[in-house]
Amino acid sequence: MIIVMRHGASQKDIDKVVEFVKLKGRTPHLSQGESHFVIGAVGASQVDPRDFELLDGVREVIKISSSYKLVSRLFKNEDTVVEVNGEKFGGGYAGMIAGPCTIESREQIFECAKAMAEAGVKIIRGGAFKPRTSPYAFQGLGEEGLKLIREAADTYNLAVTSEVMEINQIPLFIKYVDILQVGARNMQNFNLLKELSKINKPVVLKRGLSATINEWLMAAEYILSGGNRDVILCERGIRTFEVATRNTLDLCAIPVVKKLSHLPVIVDPSHGTGLRDKVLPMSLASIAAGADGLMIEVHNKPECALCDGAQSLYPNQFVELYEKLKKLAPVVDKTIG
Ligand code: PEP
Ligand code: MN
Repeated sequence: MIIVMRHGASQKDIDKVVEFVKLKGRTPHLSQGESHFVIGAVGASQVDPRDFELLDGVREVIKISSSYKLVSRLFKNEDTVVEVNGEKFGGGYAGMIAGPCTIESREQIFECAKAMAEAGVKIIRGGAFKPRTSPYAFQGLGEEGLKLIREAADTYNLAVTSEVMEINQIPLFIKYVDILQVGARNMQNFNLLKELSKINKPVVLKRGLSATINEWLMAAEYILSGGNRDVILCERGIRTFEVATRNTLDLCAIPVVKKLSHLPVIVDPSHGTGLRDKVLPMSLASIAAGADGLMIEVHNKPECALCDGAQSLYPNQFVELYEKLKKLAPVVDKTIG
């Protein structure tokens, strides 16, 4: 349930409503909209909207029938803008996250970081804990990898995004990483999501391999419900009958989610297609469809990559892509970066 306060409602009125929400066994979530203050009353207890309508300063009470509430545009109409290292996602800004699939060695991650910084990227990606289909495939360098990507990022003034797979890894990520990524395979790891709701760093939440948009938004709701409002949704392709590409990149999810939710939505065309030569057209298509940013795999030597080389761009291809995006962005009312 959402309680919309009257324009100019006093702090005393707001405090009273908040207290009443708690008294009724629900958790209040506050949001200052452009013209009205909004209070979300989230929880399972039975409440009668009329009890709230009678309180001073209340304009209207809206029952939300959708299962997600805090991620919904009903709760917050204005776009959420997540800003990291001067790079913005949402509210007309399209941010960029780029870098290798995984951190392989000091030399590799430093070369990648240098190439990304020279291309104008502000946030580098790189996995240290990799969710691999085969237990025999490279599993990542673990903490050593996080230390290396931090060092490389600091050298080139970059922020770091990396995937957290387990609750007990969170303290390490708080130490080394600026944006914590939840991978597709963990989108419904509800215990992990609950813990990430308590941290004060942004989370990139990738769409599950076969998750519906509703399930994806419900996963984001877990993170917001514990108090972390900085969630970036990432469409990375879903599994369909089509096998010509690694996944089927669901670009239609962008306008669908952006209508339902205020959260920024970015696209990962690397995992979405699995093919290097499809990354450029799908990146352009993503921004044209309204995406609030991109996550792209780039490797200094893709042919030698330990993971996802075939979908990783060469640095010069990334530079070309970024230039094209910058030309396209103004046409679709987006600002890159
Ligand atoms: C990744 O970004 O490195 C990754 C493993 O992606 P996904 O979780 O989308 O498969
Ligand atoms: Mn990858």
